[in-house]
Amino acid sequence: MGTNDSIKSRTYDAIVIGSGISGGWAAKELCEKGLKTLVLERGRDVRHIQDYPTTNKMPWEFPHRGEVPYEIQKANPVVSRCYAFREDAAHFFTKDTEHPYVQEQPFDWIRGYQVGGKSLLWARQTQRWSEFDFEGPARDGFAVDWPIRYKDIAPWYSYVEKFAGISGNKDGLDILPDGEFLPPMELNCVEKYFVQSVGKSYKDRHVVYARCAHLTEPQPVHLQQGRGQCQKRNLCQRGCPFGGYYASNSTTIPWAQKTGNMTLRPHSVVHSILYDDAKGKAVGVRVIDDVTKDAIDFYARIIFVNAAALNTNLILLNSKSSRFPNGLGNDSGVLGKYVAFHNYRAYINATHEGHLDITTDGRRPTSGYIPRFRNVHQQETDFLRGYAAGFGADRVNTTPRDGVGTTLKDNLAKSEMGPWRVGSHMMGETIPKESNYVALDDSLKDAWGIPQLKISVTYDDNDEKMTKDYMEQLTEMFEKAGFKDIKAVDGKRAPGNDIHEMGGVRMGRDPKTSVLNGWNQMHAVPNVFVTDGACMTSTATQNPSLTYMALTARAADYAVQEMKKGNI
Ligand SMILES: Cc1cc2nc3c(=O)[nH]c(=O)nc-3n(C[C@H](O)[C@H](O)[C@H](O)COP(=O)(O)OP(=O)(O)OC[C@H]3O[C@@H](n4cnc5c(N)ncnc54)[C@H](O)[C@@H]3O)c2cc1C
Ligand code: SF4
Repeated sequence: MGTNDSIKSRTYDAIVIGSGISGGWAAKELCEKGLKTLVLERGRDVRHIQDYPTTNKMPWEFPHRGEVPYEIQKANPVVSRCYAFREDAAHFFTKDTEHPYVQEQPFDWIRGYQVGGKSLLWARQTQRWSEFDFEGPARDGFAVDWPIRYKDIAPWYSYVEKFAGISGNKDGLDILPDGEFLPPMELNCVEKYFVQSVGKSYKDRHVVYARCAHLTEPQPVHLQQGRGQCQKRNLCQRGCPFGGYYASNSTTIPWAQKTGNMTLRPHSVVHSILYDDAKGKAVGVRVIDDVTKDAIDFYARIIFVNAAALNTNLILLNSKSSRFPNGLGNDSGVLGKYVAFHNYRAYINATHEGHLDITTDGRRPTSGYIPRFRNVHQQETDFLRGYAAGFGADRVNTTPRDGVGTTLKDNLAKSEMGPWRVGSHMMGETIPKESNYVALDDSLKDAWGIPQLKISVTYDDNDEKMTKDYMEQLTEMFEKAGFKDIKAVDGKRAPGNDIHEMGGVRMGRDPKTSVLNGWNQMHAVPNVFVTDGACMTSTATQNPSLTYMALTARAADYAVQEMKKGNI
């Protein structure tokens, strides 16, 4: 503790922990509403454009031609299993060796510790949840009831979509509500052929343009952000110099900065949230400075926790006081429990023999999407819930690359195209269970003296049955389309690599069985809000980040209203 002056210089209206997708939104909303906001980020600063070192590199400029060197892969097996961990973006991924954790069950924890978090790395898929998703737990009798419904979040989806810029087609499907879309990215001819084939064979199955956070037609608000039209380079994971996709670094963080109300503090590893027994509320946040390793306390009236689902669990579990000996707000004992994720285990590949007179040119940073079709209106399988799926087609370039000198040149000039390849991967809902949990391992500390996170999360029988069903159903859909050489595979990958981990700090109606209320506000500590994936009561099948953005904007609006009323 320092002097009063020093405490004043460390006091803000609001503190946001984490500067990734959800923290960026918290910072923008709170700063725009006039709150002096401190954003604490454990990683280094990554400034838009100037800190994207690989963004304009040609393939031959990478010393290892795009591959991460074998020695680095061997030392970092978890992050190496992520498809995007390549030489051009490896600097944005957290290395296993530097940030160890305990796997009680195999769990590939993929992280991005820097300003912008994983918003630099994400695949930008942004599908809204539907009413079927919010009512799922109540209808099917698992987890606890969501304290909100689609109508509560719909206006906030619209709000964040307009600012972030989401491209998509209005498909009019109840299972995948339409949003505020910029023009969609076209499907190619074979993808459109599959759309028609599925449409002819099934009345309740659809293939649509995947909605994604790309500026296909920038609007004035995007130009005001300094962003421009997506050039479809599909090199997004390097950081986009055009700001063509939504990343906190190009969008919310600079916007918050422009208000003059944001203080961004990188290299600030949050240790815990400080709770004052006498005041009966959280008063601030303890940080370990990554450079000096000093512990420093910062103070604020409200705190938004946006460190990404599992790190948010870790911070809350480590926030112990006499009032909360088992973690902040943990009266119910459910903190750290009911962690869930998306089941990405199975995929399917095939070839298509038609359309050989057509090929595609250029690139496209998205694909097709098959919304969930299982157990939507009624229970029809021996497993609960369902899965969505990605779908894409491309033509294989089979240009011969053998020979040397003129033979090689002649071969390369032939530019031969092989058949079309088609493929899909599953995105299954998993059921949150008490036995899937995270906890602190007090015997193992990280380099900042913070207990390591112990992760105990695995598949269950529901996931096994769902995986099998996906393989059977997609095989049938591919067969009906006349695709050949169909191979459905259960890759048996560990949970985690889906990078959609959720829960542990779930929302609910009852403080006895949940940590947060319907405003993402802690039942027991009303000036603390959790709006990243940790808050999720169930997982649905859609890529979750758009929902985190909408929940964050909604919670920030509520928090500021409550502050003005003097309630927090
Ligand atoms: C390759 C890849 C593809 C993906 N594709 C999609 C997709 O298509 N669609 C989709 O919806 N989602 C996708 N995701 C997931 C998406 O990136 C996450 O859901 C999203 O980033 C979560 O937002 P967040 O704010 O919770 O966390 P993050 O964006 O990870 O931000 C958390 C921030 O908190 C910081 N932090 C953590 N601990 C502390 C601490 N103790 N103190 C201070 N700061 C801390 C981190 O450094 C980080 O900057 C993908 C992820 C990856 C890696
Ligand atoms: S595809 Fe679009 S968003 Fe991605 S790097 Fe290219 S221009 Fe940027």
